[in-house]
Amino acid sequence: MRYLYLALLCCICPLSAAESLALPVSPLSPMLTTTAGTSVSGAAEVLPPAKGTLPVICYHRFGPEESSDPLKISAKRLAEELRWLKKEGYQSITTQQALDFVDGKGDSLPAKPIILSVDDGYRSGWSVGGPIFKRYGFKAVYFIITDQVGVSKNFLNWDDLKEILAEGFEVQSHTMDHTNLGKPLSFKIPIDGEVHPEEFSEKHVTKFEMPLDYHTRLRTELEGSREKLDEMLGETVTTLAYPFGAFNPVVESYAVDSGYNLIMTVSGGVNIPGDDPHRLRRIILVGHPTLESFKKKVLEKRLLAKIQGLEEGIGIFSDQLPHKITITMPPDRDPNEVPRGDIQGHWINLKPGAAPSTWVATLEKKMKPGFYFFKVEVGSGATFARDSYLFEIYRPGMRNYMIPLSPTSQP
Ligand SMILES: [Zn+2]
Repeated sequence: MRYLYLALLCCICPLSAAESLALPVSPLSPMLTTTAGTSVSGAAEVLPPAKGTLPVICYHRFGPEESSDPLKISAKRLAEELRWLKKEGYQSITTQQALDFVDGKGDSLPAKPIILSVDDGYRSGWSVGGPIFKRYGFKAVYFIITDQVGVSKNFLNWDDLKEILAEGFEVQSHTMDHTNLGKPLSFKIPIDGEVHPEEFSEKHVTKFEMPLDYHTRLRTELEGSREKLDEMLGETVTTLAYPFGAFNPVVESYAVDSGYNLIMTVSGGVNIPGDDPHRLRRIILVGHPTLESFKKKVLEKRLLAKIQGLEEGIGIFSDQLPHKITITMPPDRDPNEVPRGDIQGHWINLKPGAAPSTWVATLEKKMKPGFYFFKVEVGSGATFARDSYLFEIYRPGMRNYMIPLSPTSQP
């Protein structure tokens, strides 16, 4: 049940305000490496440029749909989606080809590339999904929680994963235990050592995992899962999907150190050449979307507005609120167009900025610590375009967790 709950959270609103967070802010840049666009080198290596968009779909489990399980998609719905993708000419690409795509190399890529991914290692992901993927000629990438492999009949076992690989599908990492990497774990400790169990929830204090334990957990989750998959499957795992899509600069630097060269979030929207391969966007299907809604998500265009004051996956400390985000509309848009802003499904007020084609959104002081989706969009129909970001409001105490520890500095 715990996993069901986690996976439900996984994609909807990764961390609600209740999932209190405690990390730091923007001064991440020194420890981050931006790799997008840096790997094309030498005239001899110039290849046809990748064009268009790369949608990455995030599935979880397949079977009879229930309103209580917004992440379970029926076999019929999956088949409808794949039938449409096939008719439209989409073709699965590998995670290696996704790296080529963001690097701008187009030689190995179909005209309409797509990645279908299946998170968490549920049995139905393969027993129900596998035959349907194959029927329509698609491959999928399975993101596996290594500690969950074979623990019950509801999860795939190592033989299943070997079969998945033998069929030409991919198996990649979704960490060892699916804990939230973006924040320290919290524990409820009774204030009085002899409280009655029924009073427990009333009389406790919340304690957070200590910074060194947090950093050790990050290393273990990231390295342990990759090593386990390599050992059991004999393949080198180089792609990671963050549980809940949650990360911060420290998590990202450890993930890259651990050998992942392609990392997936759940920020929504499609990918384009030049995007950061450590922050590949995925489209999560929540609440049994209609085929029309699915098509819209796949066909969505990126607005490519310049956003100042907000970086994908990076947070704002709550003691820095209110905080302003400046949006500069791209030059190819009609300057008279008025963009719409949205935070967590609610429209927000965008005020005209001082410079032409700029708009300002304000993150209000009342915003609680947690993860939020920020979207800015403009136009409709064929002119519709949107940018989406996943960001976080950190508790001030999270600053103590954001200083990366080098292995040699640990006792
Ligand atoms: Zn997950």
